[in-house]
Amino acid sequence: LIQLFRPLDVLGWVYRTIRQGLIDMAEMFRLIDTDIEVKDKPGAPALIVRQPGVVFDNVVFGYDPGRTILNGLSFEVPAGSTTAIVGPSGAGKSTIGRLLFRFYDPLSGRVLVGGEDITQVTQESVRAAIGIVPQDSVLFNEDLAYNIGYGAEGADQAMIERAARDAALTPLIDRLPDRFATMVGERGLKLSGGEKQRVAIARTLVKNPPILLLDEATSALDSRTEQEILATLRRIAEGRTTIAIAHRLSTIADADNILVLDHGRLVESGTHSALLASRGLYAEMWARQANENREELPVAEVAG
Ligand code: ATP
Repeated sequence: LIQLFRPLDVLGWVYRTIRQGLIDMAEMFRLIDTDIEVKDKPGAPALIVRQPGVVFDNVVFGYDPGRTILNGLSFEVPAGSTTAIVGPSGAGKSTIGRLLFRFYDPLSGRVLVGGEDITQVTQESVRAAIGIVPQDSVLFNEDLAYNIGYGAEGADQAMIERAARDAALTPLIDRLPDRFATMVGERGLKLSGGEKQRVAIARTLVKNPPILLLDEATSALDSRTEQEILATLRRIAEGRTTIAIAHRLSTIADADNILVLDHGRLVESGTHSALLASRGLYAEMWARQANENREELPVAEVAG
C-alpha cells in the first residue's frame, strides 16, 4: 500500500494521524478528499461492471512534465483472469495500480474497467469495484468484527463471518473465547503478520469486489506463511479479475499472463513457461532470483 501511495506527501500525515488505521485506498481517498487531483466529470454516472475486464489502451503518463513514466502502455486483463506485473524497480508497476484506482489520469490513452473509460464515471464507483490487498496493514484497536467489516458500509455479521471463513481466519477465531468480539491491536490480541494479512483479505472480501489488486501482498511473511496466504489469495481470485504487482517472481509463476515492464514499456508478456523459453528479461530476472534464494539457504540445503 505504501508503494501505491508514495506519490502523496500527505500519506505520512495521514498515517501518523490515524496510526491504527487499516486503511484501504477508498478510505484513504475519503480522508484526503481535498487533495485529490482528479475530479469527477460533472454529472458522471456510476460505473456498472458487468464483465470486469481491465484494459490499458496506449496509456502515456508521467508525474512531472517532461518525464513520462508509462510510454504508450497497452494491455488487457480479461474478466476473471489473473495477470501479474513484474519488472525492475522503477519500471512503473505501482503507477499502473495508481492509474487503475484513478489516483491520476493518463496524459493520453485510456484506462477501461468493464469496457468503460474510467474518466467518464464516478471515482467512487471505480474504487468500489476494486479491492486491494496491500503489502502491509495496520489494525484498529477495535474488535475483529469491526476490523473485518471496516470500510464496507452495511456489512452485517453474516457477511463478516463469511469473509473471515473465505480468508481462512476460522481456525484463529475458533481458538478465541470471544470470537469476533475479541479486541485486537495494541491493547488487545496481537496478530502475527500472516493473521493480519488474513484480516486484510477478509476486509477486501466483505467488499466483494469483481477486481482485485494485490500489491506484493506476501512480501513481509516467512516462506511457509507466504505459501499459505498465496493459496488463500489464489482461491479468492477465482472468478475475479486479478492484477498482482510482484517483485518476487516465484509468487506469480502460475498467473494466466505475466506482463514484463521496463522503463514504462511492455517488453514481454506471456505465461511463466513461455517467458522462460523466450530467454528475455523475465528469464534473466528469474535466474537472478533463483540464485539469490540459493545464497540465502544454508549450505547443506543447497547441496541437498
Ligand atoms: P518498485 O519496484 O521499486 O516499487 P515500480 O515499478 O513500482 O518500482 P513506480 O513506483 O511505478 O515503479 O515508479 C515509476 C517511476 O515513477 C519511478 O522512477 C519513480 O521514481 C517515479 N515516481 C513514482 N511516484 C512519483 C511521484 N509522486 N512523483 C514523481 N515521480 C514518481
